[in-house]
Amino acid sequence: MTVRTRFAPSPTGLLHIGNARAALFNYLYAKHYHGEFLLRIEDTDRERSTQQAVDVILDGLAWMGLIPDKPPVYQSTRIKRHQEIALHLLETGKAYKCFCTPEELAEMRTKAKVEGKPPRYNGYWRDRDPSEAPPNTPYTIRIKAPREGKTIIHDLVQGDVTVGNIELDDMIILRADSTPTYQHAVVCDDHDMNITHVIRGDDHLTNSFRQLMIYHAMGWEIPQFAHLPLIHGPDGAKLSKRHGASSVMEFRDEGYLPEALCNYLLRLGWGHGDDEILSREEQIKLFDLDGVGRSPSRMDYTKLNHINAYWLRQADSKRLCKKILSRLNKRNNLKLDEQNQQKILKLMPSLKERAKNLNELAENAAFLCMTIPLNFTDKAQKLLNDGNRILLKKLAIELNKLPNFTKDSINHCLHEFAQKEKLKLGKVAQPLRAAITGNTISPGIDDTLFALGKNEVLARLGAIING
Ligand code: GLU
Repeated sequence: MTVRTRFAPSPTGLLHIGNARAALFNYLYAKHYHGEFLLRIEDTDRERSTQQAVDVILDGLAWMGLIPDKPPVYQSTRIKRHQEIALHLLETGKAYKCFCTPEELAEMRTKAKVEGKPPRYNGYWRDRDPSEAPPNTPYTIRIKAPREGKTIIHDLVQGDVTVGNIELDDMIILRADSTPTYQHAVVCDDHDMNITHVIRGDDHLTNSFRQLMIYHAMGWEIPQFAHLPLIHGPDGAKLSKRHGASSVMEFRDEGYLPEALCNYLLRLGWGHGDDEILSREEQIKLFDLDGVGRSPSRMDYTKLNHINAYWLRQADSKRLCKKILSRLNKRNNLKLDEQNQQKILKLMPSLKERAKNLNELAENAAFLCMTIPLNFTDKAQKLLNDGNRILLKKLAIELNKLPNFTKDSINHCLHEFAQKEKLKLGKVAQPLRAAITGNTISPGIDDTLFALGKNEVLARLGAIING
C-alpha cells in the first residue's frame, strides 16, 4: 500500500501555524513511508476563496518546502461528483430527501432544547414517502445515521475514541441548492484521492465520526485517522494575534527561516529523545505518528528564537545576504550597490553569529551600506567627544599607512596603537566602532574594518575628525 496523505486547507486568507504544522506532519509522514503528499484546496466557500487567499496557502507551503507530489485538487471543481455520490446514496436507500422548512427545523431545535435533548434533526422524513411533501417543496438530502450501537475510531494519536451512535443525527449531505456540505465533500474527495491517512487538527475529531457514516454507507475503505492536538499560546489560551505571530507569513516577515519554523513546529508536540535540532532529512527519517503527544502544545517564542538563531548560523551566507537585501531595500539612505553587497557578504560569518532573526541581521548589517554622514545612536555620539576625535585622527594616520588592509594587519595596527597610547584596546576600539558604524555594537572591530575596506573606513573617520 502506498501511503497517501493530504493537506486540505480552506483558503481563509492566512495559513495559521496550527494548519502549517498539520501540513508538515502530513508531508513528513508521507515521505517517511515513501508515499505521496497531496494538497486539496477546500474552496467551496466561493466568496472567501479568492485567488489571493489560495496564493497565501501555496506561497506558505512553498516557503516551508512542503511541495505536494501532484498539482492541487480544487474542491469546487468536484461538485458534480459530490452530487453524483449523494444521489447514489439516495437511490440505494442510504440517504433520503428531507422536505423540512427552515421554520420547521428551528421549531424542532427549540422543542429538543425544552426537553433537555441535544438540538438534532429528529428524522421526520427518514421513513416518510416523499409524495407526502407538497409539490415543488425544496429538499435536502440527508444520510441515514445508525440508530444504535457505537462507532470507534482507532486514532493513531488519540488512541481508541468511541461515540455512541445515538449522538449522531441524519446530517445533510446535499443542500437544497444542490451544493454538497463540507462533511460530504471531504469524504468523496479523500476517497477519490486514495487518501490512506487523514492527519488533521483534533478540532475535526467529531467530524470524523460523522464522515464515517458516508464511508460506511458507500462501503468505502476507511482511512486511518490521526488527530493532532492544537497549538495554544504560552498562557494556555487559544493561540491568537495577542500572543505574537500566529500565521506562516507573519513568522516569515518577522525574520524566521523556514527550516527553523519547521524544526520548531515539529518539536512542538512531537519528540525524539532530546534531539532539538533536526534537518529535513533527519525529520523524514525519524518522524512517525506514535511520537505525537495527546495534549495541546504551548507556543514558546523564546525556544523558537533559539532554534532560529541556530539555523541562521548554519545558513549559507549568500542566501542570507539575498534575504536581508529585500529588507534593507525598504530603508532609506542605504546604497545597495554591488560593492556594498560584497561588504555584507564579507561580514556575514560574524553577523550571523549575533542575530536571532533576519530583521535583526539586516539591522546589524545596515551600517555597511550607509552613506556619509552616518546616523549615530546617542551612545555612539557620546563616545565621539573631543578627546576621542583627536585619538581617531592619530589612528587614521596609522591605518592609512597599511599597505594591505587585511584582518591581521588591522589587528596588529590596533594593538600597537593602543600600546603606544597606553590604552586598553577597548578604549580605542569603542570610539572607532562608533565612528565607522554609528553604533556601539558590531561584530569584532577587525572584522568590521576589514568588511568596510580601507577607503570607506578612512572616509568615515575623516568625516568625524573634520566634522
Ligand atoms: N478544510 C478544513 C480546514 O481547513 C480541513 C479539512 C480536513 O483536513 O479534513 O479546517
